[in-house]
Amino acid sequence: MAQLLKYLKADVDVDSLHTQNKWTLVRYFVALGKVMGTLCIIFGCIPLCGYLFEIEPLYRPLEKGPATHPSTAILIVLLGLCIRRKSWGRSNLAYSCIIWVVILLSALRLIELAVGRPLLIDTLPFYQISLSEAAQGKQNAQGWNTALMLLLLSLALFFRGNSQLITSQILAVISLIFPAIALTGYAYGFQSFFGDMSLMTLTSGYCMGIGTLSLTAKTGAIRVLLSPYVGGRLGRYQLVFGWLIPFMLGFLLVKALFFQPEGQLVGLYVVMVCWFIAMLVTATAMVHENIDSRRRVAEKALLKASMQDELTSIPNRRCFMEQAQKEFHRAKRKRGELWLLLLDIDHFKQVNDRAGHPVGDKVIKCLAALIQRNARISDCYCRLGGEEFALLLLDTNAYGAMQVAERIRTEFEQEIIPGFSQIYGAVTVSIGIASNNLAVDTIETLISRADEALYSAKQTGRNQALFYEFKNPSLDVLQLNSFAVSRI
Ligand code: GH3
Ligand code: MG
Ligand code: MG
Repeated sequence: MAQLLKYLKADVDVDSLHTQNKWTLVRYFVALGKVMGTLCIIFGCIPLCGYLFEIEPLYRPLEKGPATHPSTAILIVLLGLCIRRKSWGRSNLAYSCIIWVVILLSALRLIELAVGRPLLIDTLPFYQISLSEAAQGKQNAQGWNTALMLLLLSLALFFRGNSQLITSQILAVISLIFPAIALTGYAYGFQSFFGDMSLMTLTSGYCMGIGTLSLTAKTGAIRVLLSPYVGGRLGRYQLVFGWLIPFMLGFLLVKALFFQPEGQLVGLYVVMVCWFIAMLVTATAMVHENIDSRRRVAEKALLKASMQDELTSIPNRRCFMEQAQKEFHRAKRKRGELWLLLLDIDHFKQVNDRAGHPVGDKVIKCLAALIQRNARISDCYCRLGGEEFALLLLDTNAYGAMQVAERIRTEFEQEIIPGFSQIYGAVTVSIGIASNNLAVDTIETLISRADEALYSAKQTGRNQALFYEFKNPSLDVLQLNSFAVSRI
């Protein structure tokens, strides 16, 4: 409600009502990109240090497991550098070059694996170590899965650089399949599982995938899954359980079967089921979000229409009464002062009769704009109906209230209304003022007092602002003097 009022007063269009700070998860995920990029650089540098200082556990975390190949480590560092930078800006060329290097090297590795003989990849640093390790029967080579993952990630970053965010997102999601397969292999205890991947490469793969996705988090499926609305919330729960339960069931099945070939098939089946569930959940969340976002826009538009005056675009009577009630009770609790101004255009019927309704409408709009200009953001105002307006001033006194009223009155008198003022003279307004400071228990009493003051203003010559004069004989005269304000 407060948000809506702010927009009503600022007269912002309804679409911007959606730019609320609710999409916190998206913002967090975007911020995560930098962390992931940094982690990639660290995870890439650790194996490189291992090769440099010949510390095997740094590039081969598990004793008999696969190692991170030096070329893989270099490419991870390069991709980490690109992921870390949210916007490439002036260094666009440098980052594009890095991406192209990764694309070419990973593509070359795939060709190398396909043709079965070494190409350029052999010339990379520390190649001798990986060669000698391979001769000792230890696994040390960039597998097809790692090469494919790096190719997909570098392509994802390339498309992201070209602002093709959806393509980038799809490629990054596909690239995550490879570390997911490797993780399943490790979790289920398979010695070899569809292209081995070192634990370090696996972790870096997740970091690179998540980091690349974070660069596109403001759009597509990722945005939907991180949405604060029902589609995103459901999607997130479904995704967690949709992955966890098949994964755990698969684990139990593999442990019960404990026969490697069949176990591996179960592992593969689990990975496929998990990704199928992920796609299904994402598609459902996207459809849901699409429908829900249209509903939200319609709801906000309806809410705005129910609170806004159609002609002047300022709050209407319903909106005013809701806010004024709140302010009235707040002032009562805190013993604060409130001043209500009721404004009514003088001889408005004549304006309509002389110049026609469209000119009359212009006059009404003109006064609405004046009130809006003269009110503080905390004040409440509205068009009560016809040519009548209300303005509730908070945190002010009688002098402040009269000052505002006089400013509006004189400025309105000086307004040049096209099609009227030059021919028939100035249009004027009468204003009645009342405050909550003496025996005013309800907002309705306050309004009726201001109305009474307005009536007096009309009766005694119009084009003036008058305070409500207390006429209650039961009240102490002294008390009256200290509280009541007659004309200033
Ligand atoms: P007074 O000085 O006593 O206030 O005289 P008045 O003519 O302003 O008094 P009254 O309240 O009788 O006239 C209000 C007129 O406002 C009557 C109605 O036709 C006109 N009116 C009400 N709503 C609108 C509107 O949206 N547009 C236009 N152009 N006229 C309107
Ligand atoms: Mg009137
Ligand atoms: Mg009038």
